[in-house]
Amino acid sequence: MKAKAFIYNCRQAERKFAIKFWEQKLLTELDAEEWEQLCDGCGRCCMLKLEDEDTEDVAYTGMVCGLLDLETINCTQYPQRHELVPDCVVFDAAGAESFGWLPKSCAYRRLAEGRSLAWWHPLISGTRQTVVDAGISVHGRVVSEDNVHPDEHESMVVTWVEY
Ligand code: SF4
Repeated sequence: MKAKAFIYNCRQAERKFAIKFWEQKLLTELDAEEWEQLCDGCGRCCMLKLEDEDTEDVAYTGMVCGLLDLETINCTQYPQRHELVPDCVVFDAAGAESFGWLPKSCAYRRLAEGRSLAWWHPLISGTRQTVVDAGISVHGRVVSEDNVHPDEHESMVVTWVEY
């Protein structure tokens, strides 16, 4: 019975994603599952940013939040992340006009700006590996903030993230 239920659920999910919900609906119309499916798992939003106090310019660094698993590029405390890391930004479709801080590659920002998903997005390619192959994932390119002394933060600025 369990196996049958699993196959049924998979088929339901296949049908749902075959519909390309992200092309049929506005961001504000997505349900919770569809919203989560949009995340490509790149981990770029977990990169620490530095802000110039005078100009308010923001720069991405090669350091990521200490909660990010550097192998799987998943948050190790996803349900509690906002309590554990008060700076972790909550964003939803209602705040789409302020997605400018997200990398240009981010699926949420792309759709909010009327762009389509890229070829490497898992919903298009069918695998998260393309996010790595296309050089979008932070996998192998970043270190945990826990391993960098605060005096070295400024030297960690990177230029490979377009935002
Ligand atoms: S930058 Fe966007 S697509 Fe990438 S992990 Fe963050 S929310 Fe997901």
